[in-house]
Amino acid sequence: MAPGGFASLSSGAFGGGGEGGGRPPVQFSERATLGGIRDAELGKGSVAEYAEVYALITFIRNESIAYPACRTDKCNKKMQQNPGQDSWSCEKCGNTYDAPEYRYVLTVSLSDWSGVNFVTAFNKEGAIILGGRSANDVEQLRVTNPDDFQALLLACTFQSGVFRLKLKEETYGEQQTQRIKAQIMDVRLTTDFVHENRELVGGIKALLARP
Ligand SMILES: [Zn+2]
Repeated sequence: MAPGGFASLSSGAFGGGGEGGGRPPVQFSERATLGGIRDAELGKGSVAEYAEVYALITFIRNESIAYPACRTDKCNKKMQQNPGQDSWSCEKCGNTYDAPEYRYVLTVSLSDWSGVNFVTAFNKEGAIILGGRSANDVEQLRVTNPDDFQALLLACTFQSGVFRLKLKEETYGEQQTQRIKAQIMDVRLTTDFVHENRELVGGIKALLARP
């Protein structure tokens, strides 16, 4: 079986629509690959596209992991610290708080056999990747204990799992540069490798059974 067989195994996920998080996982045979997503330019144009990949986290960016969000229910706007004061204000809803609620904006590199892609994980998925810890806790660790913070990020790198990605073209800067941005909508880290390998064997058998 030529390696290309795997590419065709994965092509079924391309072009699929949907809302992202909370959906049941796609069939093993409908999973995409990072190289396939890149080659198909998934997300190019005005409509977001979705795909599921099985990949390994190979890097977690440590410079900035979260932003200080407003605590007002469903606001989540970035708050500004009031100069010289221990208070934070939100310009969207106008409320002032003693402290913000940090929310993850985690930049993660995903790798599989076919490619590498930088993706963004927001609050819920960021917490899953960092072992269920809240962004508040990890941001505090980053500031107060950089060594333990680095150790945590390293410990959470090289986890594998199924990642549901949203791909959408966005325009940046004055040059109006266009780039396809990938966001993690859902993640199921692999904890049951027996189950994952059973799926893999099933996928290979299905592939071999094709005429
Ligand atoms: Zn607010």
